[in-house]
Amino acid sequence: MLRNLFFLLTILITSISLGQVDNNDALLIKAKKLVSKLSTEEKIAQTCQVTLDALLQTDQNGSIVLPIQIDENKLSKLIEKQAIGSVLNVSSHTLDRATWNQILAQIHGPFRNGKTSVPVIYGVDAIHGANYVVGGTLFPQEIGLAATWNPALANKMGEITAYETRASGVPWNFSPVLDLGRQPLWSRFFETLGEDPLLASQLGAEMVRGYQGINPADSTRVAACMKHFVGYSLPRSGRDRTPAWIPERQMKELYLPSFKAAVDAGALTVMINSGDVNGIPGHINKKLITKTLKDNWGFKGFAVSDWEDIRMLHTVHKVASSQKEAIIMAINAGLDMSMVPYNGPHEEYLSLFKEAIDEKKISMKRLDDAATRIIYVKLKLGLYDKQFEPWQSFAKFASIEFKTAAKNAALESITLLKNENNTLPLNKNEKVLLVGEAANNLIFQNGAWTHTWQGEDTSYNTKGNPTIYQALSQKLGDKLTFMQGYDLKAVNGWESCSNFDIEKVKSAAQQSDKIIICLGEMPATEKPGDVKTLNLCEAQQELVKELQTIGKPMILVLLFGKPHIIREIEPKSSAILNAYLPGDYGSEALTEIILGEANPSGKLPFTYPRFDGVIEYYDYVNSETKTNKTDGLPINPQWAFGHGLSYTSFSYSDLSIKTTYDKKGNDLYEASVLVKNSGEKAGKEVVQWYITDEYASVTPANKKLKGFEKISLSPGESKKVVFKFTTKDLRFVGEDNKWIVEPGTFKLTCGSQSAVFELK
Ligand code: BGC
Repeated sequence: MLRNLFFLLTILITSISLGQVDNNDALLIKAKKLVSKLSTEEKIAQTCQVTLDALLQTDQNGSIVLPIQIDENKLSKLIEKQAIGSVLNVSSHTLDRATWNQILAQIHGPFRNGKTSVPVIYGVDAIHGANYVVGGTLFPQEIGLAATWNPALANKMGEITAYETRASGVPWNFSPVLDLGRQPLWSRFFETLGEDPLLASQLGAEMVRGYQGINPADSTRVAACMKHFVGYSLPRSGRDRTPAWIPERQMKELYLPSFKAAVDAGALTVMINSGDVNGIPGHINKKLITKTLKDNWGFKGFAVSDWEDIRMLHTVHKVASSQKEAIIMAINAGLDMSMVPYNGPHEEYLSLFKEAIDEKKISMKRLDDAATRIIYVKLKLGLYDKQFEPWQSFAKFASIEFKTAAKNAALESITLLKNENNTLPLNKNEKVLLVGEAANNLIFQNGAWTHTWQGEDTSYNTKGNPTIYQALSQKLGDKLTFMQGYDLKAVNGWESCSNFDIEKVKSAAQQSDKIIICLGEMPATEKPGDVKTLNLCEAQQELVKELQTIGKPMILVLLFGKPHIIREIEPKSSAILNAYLPGDYGSEALTEIILGEANPSGKLPFTYPRFDGVIEYYDYVNSETKTNKTDGLPINPQWAFGHGLSYTSFSYSDLSIKTTYDKKGNDLYEASVLVKNSGEKAGKEVVQWYITDEYASVTPANKKLKGFEKISLSPGESKKVVFKFTTKDLRFVGEDNKWIVEPGTFKLTCGSQSAVFELK
């Protein structure tokens, strides 16, 4: 007896010292206990998520009554009686904080009054700031954030977005998108962190840390949601939610690492890929959801479906012959919550799920696991204690501090792609003609998921935030002339563009010293954002070409969520700035850069294609460079991944590598390089470390990004930058789809410097 007690005590002490009985485990134990008290119906209800519209008042035609109001009958049925576990989204457009608080208070009512035993978890897509809260601070979309190559800014963005989202009462954010941007035709390219797994991993993990903080129950933090697990971003057709084909090697080397990094950063939830990969819809991929994510990586949170995706297994993917079979397949694959999300279909979901349990097609163990994961996250968010703090207690909402952070992110994202004869920065005495609809409407800076789903409605633009035209004219006064030049709109769901007053614009150009043209695209995402080509619309190209006949220095500003082909207008443009979708403060950031008050430091997070039909990546393989054509190399993008100029110049020297060994005799490498600001302005440089495996049993990539660091240098200043790496950084996925390291010769490249080293 005494011996047993001693044994138990030893185990307890060992586990405490190993950190095993930590707060997380205590919450897990608590979650299990809470689940054990629920009925089967209550557990199933936890896995059900409905959209806010399902709870709103509608008229006789079924249209939502405006301004929106919770329908007490629906509330009492869905939340109180059926005890639905989750609600999502905003109805049609952005809401103010007081309205959000009121909605949340009503939804939480039944739990607070003791009528239900589990609080509801509410989720929204606050993907570039609190974009569904009136007055929320809007940051660059993720593709711009990636161009900063600055993890600290990603963390800051996460922290501020979490604060402002919680100010509305919502504790769960469907962000970050961790899908890689390797299919520029895809309508959601702008939502990605670019083409490289390391860049996406580092920035994505920082977004998660920013959202969740150390304690997600803190009233200023939210739960993150990793999207969309996994392979969603590579539709072969380019169209949203269409099949991807990803060999296991690529899955492991490219598409999984950003999700793994986010799991390691503690991400509490994940959303599943709506498309299918290698013929298997994401929602029934047990190998990925259960084996990889939950078993191998130890992900403790829950997996939510994407919009209506269980139904779609039956209606669209045709892998389930009935709705019930669809539920069985998805839940057994490891899905924990279904974004059903409409009122009506949710009843069917609840009852078919119950039938599946009664027929033992879904085990009670699986249901318990799903409900435990959901309740675990609710506990982690502190929802049992306090659902939310009133909006008035969030004094920093939309503060100068937050706006400055958003502007800084935009400043560091803007990428100077070309600057012939130092066309930029402008001299304030120059007469400037500014052209382009995109220069005078915030929707072109923000893109989709801003105030509305598609972001094209101009009526919700944040009041008082200047457009590019307004921000420039505050600094240039009457030296600036603005002309719209073209008109973008959506016609039958497709972008349509026309130009007008070309002769008038040309004559204004004659009177100016320099011309700035802001090129843009209609905001759009998901299926409404499908496109047929990457080519920039003809009307914008024609306008640029006409203006280029005047012979004045021309500056192109690209407000693009995806790389539009500009091969024909690039040669005669003197300077080109890529602003991506920089958010509400992008106008001020651009103005500072155009006028030289700030120095650009963004670097492309993707390979900018030269031709619509030739999509290249920086980690191409050697055979892709072979050609017998005489008119140029096949690997000849418009601009390379990692490219970005500055108003100063940087020189690299003294690259060296030292090899030491750890106790087990494994190689440890320490490389260093000296970076000097050899120009006349202070600036920031992204020091990028690439490794090339010279020969390998699987065709090696041209190079792979293995490390990066953004540094600031004053004119004349030098800094020694150190990069430590191990043999793990030399790994690749071998012929049998396992990670391996092969001895041989490797090349390390940094700026203009390179060095060769051996792994014995
Ligand atoms: C999108 C998700 C989003 C969800 C909820 C889906 O259609 O694919 O990214 O989080 O809707 O709005």
